[in-house]
Amino acid sequence: MIKAENLVKRYGANYALNDVSFEIGEGEVVGLLGPNGAGKSTAMNIITGFLSSTSGAAYVNGINILDDPIAAKKFIGFLPEQPPVYPDMTVAEYLDFVYDLKGVKLEREEHIAEVLSVVKLTDVKGRLIRNLSKGYKQRVGIAQALIGDPKVIIFDEPTVGLDPKQILEVRNLIRTLGKKHTVILSTHILAEVQAVCERVIIINKGKIIADEKTDELTRTIEDGYQYEARIVGPISQVASALKKISGVRSAAITGARDGEANVYNIESVGSSDIRRAIFTVCAENGWPMIGLAPTGTDLESIFIRLVDRSDRKADGTKGAKREKIRR
Ligand code: ADP
Repeated sequence: MIKAENLVKRYGANYALNDVSFEIGEGEVVGLLGPNGAGKSTAMNIITGFLSSTSGAAYVNGINILDDPIAAKKFIGFLPEQPPVYPDMTVAEYLDFVYDLKGVKLEREEHIAEVLSVVKLTDVKGRLIRNLSKGYKQRVGIAQALIGDPKVIIFDEPTVGLDPKQILEVRNLIRTLGKKHTVILSTHILAEVQAVCERVIIINKGKIIADEKTDELTRTIEDGYQYEARIVGPISQVASALKKISGVRSAAITGARDGEANVYNIESVGSSDIRRAIFTVCAENGWPMIGLAPTGTDLESIFIRLVDRSDRKADGTKGAKREKIRR
């Protein structure tokens, strides 16, 4: 349905995208995950025909977006980071306007009513857009993307600036839309991809560093889980006792302190749950543990681990040996 082929976008000496290729099949719900500045918006803007690439090509349903942008764009509904809504129109007027702009052929009244109902805006259709809350404005943005019933819907950072309740509503809406449409969702929030997408493409500094099922990514994150423990006790004895726990790959003092307690970084082997054992060791030795929390689940740490993993995959046996030594 969507194909990006060796996309490169260069600004002067900087590469916003550096040889990015992926394919997204009909009905897939895919997250494009990466930190700010990774190249997500650039990729979306090229796929939707808003921006040209320095080299490479983007296809929508087999049509090269640059060869026939009008035909290609008919398959796509796009919610950019800043929704293109007109504050002086009512919700209904605006959707009517978008309907004309897109040259939609479906039965007008019926189609607009259906879109209003899907995004739960029927009750406010007569209100001026300027008077709506940010969450409702975002739904108007989603509604305009749905006009014309496109096969593919592309969301660029759809929950930025929304409050927690609105975030859940928008994610639920995207999940519902994913049942009938191909969806691409760009975000810098890992939990958003885990909540909504079945596949994740991770992009960093203009390059794809992972493209896999979301479940697999979650497993990678859980593999080698890290904890931060705050323990009161003699440093070398605590560290050596922690290291002896079965399932612990490494334990090291971080140098930070919390009152009388020292802070230790502890990493487990695979997905073994080492929390009970850490507690027991501390209790048996009379070392008060005043805190134990998982770390390393932020995007930066995950990137480091994914890059490490792809390095290991690249040099097979060497990587396997290193893995054994670490264990
Ligand atoms: P993301 O959407 O992942 O936050 P972007 O695609 O917006 O990232 O940006 C990717 C990189 O390209 C960034 O380093 C950004 O500064 C750069 N960039 C984007 N647009 C321009 C532009 N018009 N001129 C110069 N650099 C740009």
